Amino acid sequence: MNAKKLQIFQFPCRDDNYGVILRDRETGTTISIDAPETDAIDDVLESKGLKLTHILTTHHHGDHVAGNEALKAKYGCEIIGPKDEEAKIPGIDKAVAHGDTFEIDGHAISVIGTPGHTLGQIAYYFPDQGAAFCADALFALGCGRIFEGTPQMMFTALSRLQALPDETMVYAGHEYTLANAKFALSVDPNNQQLIDRAREIELLRDDGKPTLPTTMQLEKQTNPFLRASDPAIRAVLDMADASDLEVFTEIRSRKDRF
Ligand SMILES: [Zn+2]
Repeated sequence: MNAKKLQIFQFPCRDDNYGVILRDRETGTTISIDAPETDAIDDVLESKGLKLTHILTTHHHGDHVAGNEALKAKYGCEIIGPKDEEAKIPGIDKAVAHGDTFEIDGHAISVIGTPGHTLGQIAYYFPDQGAAFCADALFALGCGRIFEGTPQMMFTALSRLQALPDETMVYAGHEYTLANAKFALSVDPNNQQLIDRAREIELLRDDGKPTLPTTMQLEKQTNPFLRASDPAIRAVLDMADASDLEVFTEIRSRKDRF
């Protein structure tokens, strides 16, 4: 086991994606979470003098795997990705599934199945780093659009993520937070923490700063997709007696139309 802290670099790429690179300063192990875009990632690697050793792919969408093959050709990195969509992940060397744990250079990693957005999406949780890479499952104040799965799948995925420790740093695939905040206020308008957070988000975005990573605790307090049991949200939706899944499904469908 290697519990020492990794350096984590987050950087914007494409229109609204984030790239994330983790680096072990002593051994040189360098891991990219997804590969949204070859050049943006390679620029970061080059500027820091890093050699990419691993890509951890979360799901098959083009804006998460576009750089897989070119980066593998250049660096010979190992690509690890979701078993349930293995055939759609360019350059994949090793497939992992929900419940698996593995190590890279002694750093422990747990795989959390988060289907819904796609059928096989996974998140990577680094317990020793207190960091989870949730791609397009959990966003700051939002959750991924359900393209391939069902609301039940996404609800289960978010429940698994929500079970991580409160202090977990949550990284996500996109900077959608400002739009998510506007929607969140429409279903949870009297949540003072949400109101305060929405104001901070506006200021950050006005300055061109990222709103990620977030923490699990902050999401539990302000993200409506994790708050289906909240009486105030249920009152707004007029769903006092519905199940959590029914409330979640209604929130997701309102967001799709927002
Ligand atoms: Zn996606």
